[in-house]
Amino acid sequence: MPDYSLLIDGQLIETERSFPVVNPATEEVIAACPLAEEADLDVAVKAARKAQLLWAATPYAKRQETLVAIADVIKDHKEELAKLLVQEQGKPLFDALAEISGAEYYTRYYASLELPVRVVEDNERQRVEEHRKPLGVVAGIVPWNYPFMIAVYKLAPAILAGNAFILKPAPTTSLTALRFGALIQGVVPKGVVQILSDNNNLGPLITSHAEIAKISFTGSTATGKAIMRSGADTLKRLTLELGGNDAAIVLADVDLDVVAPRLYAFAFSNAGQVCVAIKRLYVHDDIYDDVCARLAALAEKVTVGDGMQDGVRMGPLQNKMQFEKVLSLIDAVKKGEGDILTGGERLGEKGYFIKPTIVSNVREGSPLVDEEAFGPVLPVIRYTDIEDVIERANTSSYGLGASVWSSDTQRATEIARRLDSGTVWVNQHMILGPNIPLRGAKQSGVGVENAVEGFYEYTSPQIINIAKV
Ligand code: NAD
Repeated sequence: MPDYSLLIDGQLIETERSFPVVNPATEEVIAACPLAEEADLDVAVKAARKAQLLWAATPYAKRQETLVAIADVIKDHKEELAKLLVQEQGKPLFDALAEISGAEYYTRYYASLELPVRVVEDNERQRVEEHRKPLGVVAGIVPWNYPFMIAVYKLAPAILAGNAFILKPAPTTSLTALRFGALIQGVVPKGVVQILSDNNNLGPLITSHAEIAKISFTGSTATGKAIMRSGADTLKRLTLELGGNDAAIVLADVDLDVVAPRLYAFAFSNAGQVCVAIKRLYVHDDIYDDVCARLAALAEKVTVGDGMQDGVRMGPLQNKMQFEKVLSLIDAVKKGEGDILTGGERLGEKGYFIKPTIVSNVREGSPLVDEEAFGPVLPVIRYTDIEDVIERANTSSYGLGASVWSSDTQRATEIARRLDSGTVWVNQHMILGPNIPLRGAKQSGVGVENAVEGFYEYTSPQIINIAKV
């Protein structure tokens, strides 16, 4: 019998089948997760369609109030949710608390947004208005790196716009989402939010379901492409936030006392499992050896361990598959593609821990540079010419984030504008916010998440054109 329940049509539903959830720090099974199947999805979609009609007719101010009530629930259960998140995701408690607070903050931000009618034209002949209607049933499919935050920042704008929302968490991190479902059961009208955990069986059924109007997906580029193909027959609306291989370009004039710790933090946050982490660090030849030495020293000082233990700054990789993938990228380096300055191996015998790893003298052509590692390993790549490094940074098929680091902010900004990424930071990286649109260029995504622009993606614009003559 599973320890958690699905949320379908306002009811907490136990399933016959379940699958184990493993704590990545101990490799112990911590819970049995309910396994939703096709029949559960069909019931959920039916309930969602019914609920959505009433919900869309509910006054906008009332929907805003519901978001505030959800934010209050998150706030009141912050500690509990954060501890559960540590157990299933692995991140240190401090970071888990930040993730839960972030979800609350994003929800309050959305609650403050209006959905105004835009007057396109108003003259003697006609008045043209653009209204924004809900799409119907929206599904959110989320990954395991920020499972709570990403789920909530899809759910909030989706229901505010008047849609019903079906959430499918990642199989290895469903518990926090399911607990959240139980907590908001009495806060959200039945059928407006439904939560279905799966073991990778439900995704294609959701993305091809004729009654689901839109998929908001965050995850890998490969899955994003599969979703686009699968959604084509029913012409799904899509928001795809996909993988990244962010380049950071460090000019020779930086103050390394300030910059080196920041570079380290923006590469190794969440054990490197961040879509917009620094994943390719390009450093000017003049300061290359100094930067490598400083990063290696910082990596050696970090306490790696179980996220529930005091003083731990970096947790394990979230799951076995990712752990093995990162180790295999490191193994390729050991075969002559670069020099491992520190790390380069697993830590301990239990848990998916990898020592923070700094690799020097590595270039494009190595899988560690060309692929998205998504783990605690950073390739540091030498350059001498700025035109050359801009070109190399832009060769990636990804285009999520990038950054430029220099004491000359104006010059750095000019370089930033030449990088082919949805976001380019200057003298920082990875800084996101609910009011800042998040977009992937090239194969890092389609559409936009967050901010007013992201909110509008949960709506269908409708022109009302009124003749005056
Ligand atoms: P993933 O693509 O393997 O899985 C993500 C989700 O998709 C899971 O819920 C999974 O069950 C589901 N899924 C798997 N196959 C599916 C299919 N055929 N149809 C529908 N759904 C399917 O990604 P992951 O490994 O969980 O996450 C890591 C990736 O996510 C990295 O590439 C990372 O860069 C990316 N990511 C991007 C952002 C962003 O905002 N751009 C944010 C976080 C993570």
